[in-house]
Amino acid sequence: MSTNPESADSGRGEIILRGIAAAPGIAVGPAYIYSKQIPHVEKKAIRPADVDGELARLRYAVGRAEKELQKILNFAEAKLGSQDAKIFEAQIMILGDAILMGSIERRITEELSNAEFIVADEISKYRQLMMAAPDEYMHERAHDVDDVMNRIIRNIQDQKLFSRLEGASIIVSETLTPSDTVIFSRNQVLGYATDQGGVTSHAAILARSLKIPAVVGLRTSTKAIATGDRIAIDGYAGVVVLNPGPETLQALERKKERFRDFEERLVTIAPLTAETPDRKRIELSANIEFDAELEFARTQGSAGVGLFRTESQLIGRATYPTEEEQFAVYRRVAEAVHPHPVIFRAFDVGGDKLSPDAAHESNPFLGWRGIRVLLDRPELFLDQLRGILRASTGKNVRIMFPMVTTLMELRRAREMVARAMKELDARNLPYDPGIKTGVMIEVPAAAVLAGEIAAECDFLSIGTNDLIQYLLAVDRDNAAVAPLYQQFNPAVLRTIKSIIDAGHRRGIWVGMCGEMAGDPLATVLLVGMGIDELSVLPSVLPEIKKIILSIRFKDARRVVDHVLAMTTEQEIRDHLSSITRNKVPEIPLNE
Ligand code: PEP
Ligand code: MG
Repeated sequence: MSTNPESADSGRGEIILRGIAAAPGIAVGPAYIYSKQIPHVEKKAIRPADVDGELARLRYAVGRAEKELQKILNFAEAKLGSQDAKIFEAQIMILGDAILMGSIERRITEELSNAEFIVADEISKYRQLMMAAPDEYMHERAHDVDDVMNRIIRNIQDQKLFSRLEGASIIVSETLTPSDTVIFSRNQVLGYATDQGGVTSHAAILARSLKIPAVVGLRTSTKAIATGDRIAIDGYAGVVVLNPGPETLQALERKKERFRDFEERLVTIAPLTAETPDRKRIELSANIEFDAELEFARTQGSAGVGLFRTESQLIGRATYPTEEEQFAVYRRVAEAVHPHPVIFRAFDVGGDKLSPDAAHESNPFLGWRGIRVLLDRPELFLDQLRGILRASTGKNVRIMFPMVTTLMELRRAREMVARAMKELDARNLPYDPGIKTGVMIEVPAAAVLAGEIAAECDFLSIGTNDLIQYLLAVDRDNAAVAPLYQQFNPAVLRTIKSIIDAGHRRGIWVGMCGEMAGDPLATVLLVGMGIDELSVLPSVLPEIKKIILSIRFKDARRVVDHVLAMTTEQEIRDHLSSITRNKVPEIPLNE
């Protein structure tokens, strides 16, 4: 393959596009360009004698659309659980909406117009109403309505959408939302390639959870690639190759085999405790969004859940789940993980995440997010806290607050926990009165005040995804500034070290649940800094464990001393790469 940075034609018809490696794996197959475009619809007059035929065409198309959606719903339920599949139930409900369908049929009859025109016109009215709403969530739902409309029109026109339900393909799109990622995973999706997005966007995190290779930040992929083009995606290197030639395919096949062998070997270490040879034990746990991932996390050898992103329950919903609904989810997770611990992070809505009542904000990452929303919406926060507390009777449940910036926020959050406990007392419902509460350190101000925060809670967990973006002023989702998103920037490393030290001085445990915890290059450093827990995606867990098993704590501390004296990210990366390669020589981490 060419090593030219941006894109290059190798002379064999191959075009290489470079982006950011977002989810590991290699795939080769036809591209499917995903764009939410409305199919071409023209208004055509029909004769009165054709009305019955037109209505029959409409009903046939609606029936087919419903069958397609039912298929998707079944798939989503099997893969992600019924909660996350609700979005498709909502779409099926639109198809079954007697008022909507009645008025479409009436207009076809009265206006003597073709079915697809009336469908487009009538459903667009729904859509416009939703788009006019001020919040992002309704806009997302408007896209769902669009999907339904396009699905009916496509079936009226008797057109098959390129393999949305059949055949394996690589999705190429400008951007993917978390729900797009979930929705597409119903197909035989071989990979994702997007023009925008960063490695820590939630769509990328989801792709890693679903074990689907992804490259993001490609900038020009939707222009360079057409539906049906043969492409190869290398989620290890962050490269997409259009029209891959035989040499490239062979090289990728070899790489894939090497990684497969490597991953198989890693799974054999799943039952081992994550401990350095000189007996420094690290709690190695999993980041989870859906309870369907728990089984995989267990087989990968996790000792609990270090981050359960509870906001994943909001996918496909227009409202927050009730206390009862949440309790059912939290209890299932707590029981499945028992006796290991699970940390439920309170809803972290806002930023790039779903929010049923998000305000329109020009700068959402600096806006109404995480604990700020929860403290402004006490009824919502209390519902969640009671749901979590009720799931804590096995004494393995912990609560964590996201986006804490000030000490007052922590105090108010803890008061809410005390209030939720009182409310449960009044209802005679049991919970763990000694439940531990912790804070995500992901805002620079909280990092500076980590000692004071640590004095008033039971644990800290470093959220590097946000901490890095706020510390370096680099949007985690913006491909244009991706090279500046440096997790080995000396400022980041010194901040992490000072958080760990601050927590330890106050005698509490400090973990890390940002993506950096799962980067093999960072493991030596984090262990050497004395981190107590690393919570990582289940897919990378064995690899991180293997590194922990192979490094001495004593040596890792020396590496930290050495690295903390360095002043550029490049110097630090080079040094860590050489160490990691020496420690685990058989791992071809980077080609
Ligand atoms: C983080 O910010 O590091 C984190 C784990 O939280 P999220 O990615 O959900 O914002
Ligand atoms: Mg965060």
